[in-house]
Amino acid sequence: MSFQFNEHLIPLNKGHAVGPGWTSATGHRPRGVTWHWTALRSLNDCRGILGGYATITSKVSSHYCVGQAYTDGVDRYVSLENRSWHAGIGQKIRWDGKASTNKTKGTRACIGIETCNVGYERPGHPAGGDWIEAVNTDSKWIMKIEPWPEEQFNMMVAVGKEIIDRWPHIEWRDHHGHHDICPGYKQDVAGFPFARLLRGIYGDPNIPDIWSPFWMPKARQRALIALGYDLGPTQDDGDFGNLSSRALLAFQKDNDSYVIPHWTTFTCDKIFHRLTDEGLDPITVSQTPLN
Ligand SMILES: [Zn+2]
Repeated sequence: MSFQFNEHLIPLNKGHAVGPGWTSATGHRPRGVTWHWTALRSLNDCRGILGGYATITSKVSSHYCVGQAYTDGVDRYVSLENRSWHAGIGQKIRWDGKASTNKTKGTRACIGIETCNVGYERPGHPAGGDWIEAVNTDSKWIMKIEPWPEEQFNMMVAVGKEIIDRWPHIEWRDHHGHHDICPGYKQDVAGFPFARLLRGIYGDPNIPDIWSPFWMPKARQRALIALGYDLGPTQDDGDFGNLSSRALLAFQKDNDSYVIPHWTTFTCDKIFHRLTDEGLDPITVSQTPLN
């Protein structure tokens, strides 16, 4: 692996998107890691938007931005001692799945990592054959998402390792996507290779894949049905309608979760472990058709 960290630290000046130090609300340390996609492929373009050109003042930043290839490398915009402004409006949930407050929102509590990735298929960005199908947190909008290339993936692992070298209290469960803290407002990072990435960062092949089994609405419905929730006669038809939504809200209420009609990383974690507690294999349950 041969790539560079590009030093583009944003100055701690008024008008620049950096907050000095971690606050007392989080024990003067970051509590989680928020992964993003930039919706752009070019690291150079991202550097402009994220304030990495020191002369640019901006309302957004991130700690890192990971290019797609080793020739691009990884940009550093904000040191791990300071806060980057990587998650703005629409925040409802914090790093541990509980309700977010102004003092514990992502920008104040989490390290932000942007990955150069165009996100979902849309005009101007046609999907390739290897794009990933995953549904939005609302379980209604199935997107096709650009995969993260191998070189980029390896650089993401290196970034993750640098973070836990500095802040070893951050565990695999403290990683999430922008869409997990802003469900319904953000789509990044649906289809993200969380399990493989975290296994790489933590050197632990036993980290469970709680995410990809539930990338499709049918799988989500099957999990809820397996846990005894009534989705009506249409069962796992893939149309995540009122009964499915009501079942999800009931599941969240029953499991001491933030109640919101969105399926997040925190839902994945709870439902994966509830299924396991019941002696069920989450992968078999999610992949076995009922209809
Ligand atoms: Zn984002």
